[in-house]
Amino acid sequence: MIEITLVRGDITQQHVDAIVNAANSSLLGGGGVDGAIHRRGGPEILAECRALRASHYGKGLRTGQAVATTAGRLDARHVIHTVGPVWSREEDRSALLASCYRESLRVAAELGAGTVAFPAISTGIYGWPIDDGARIAIRTVRAAAVAPITEVRFVLFDEHAYKAFETALAAQG
Ligand code: ADP
Repeated sequence: MIEITLVRGDITQQHVDAIVNAANSSLLGGGGVDGAIHRRGGPEILAECRALRASHYGKGLRTGQAVATTAGRLDARHVIHTVGPVWSREEDRSALLASCYRESLRVAAELGAGTVAFPAISTGIYGWPIDDGARIAIRTVRAAAVAPITEVRFVLFDEHAYKAFETALAAQG
């Protein structure tokens, strides 16, 4: 049985086995969570991202996929980088957002992670409405988290995001 927990705070301050990064396809860093992870985690993470790009992801990491690196100076063993979809009014991209959570959990389980921290993927610079993003996150994690994962922690940066996840969690159990 996995436990889903909600925390209001900064994902770079979490002590967990794996921290998920809302990366972009270049894997070379960006704003929001990505910037915070590289700033606090130090250059080792970026060096590994560059190496991954050179060896496997010359065209970038595809939306909905996930890949792990060291966590550098963060209080975690791994950072799992996943690329969320940019919100679109015209096109339903929710399967891609669900894939980010599912693939990140698959990679985390493969690495033997027991505890995994997620940000609210795509709900910042990529513009996904927080209520919908929260519903997809909770639903997908409920269905996809497998052993050895025992805790999935959503780390929400502001009160609005925290409330959205609280509501989604209460609705979906
Ligand atoms: P994306 O490009 O996938 O939208 P962002 O990093 O811009 O990713 O934002 C994703 C979510 O993470 C937003 O809800 C944003 O408020 C939140 N966020 C930004 N910085 C942090 C942080 N240090 N810890 C946790 N959440 C954060």
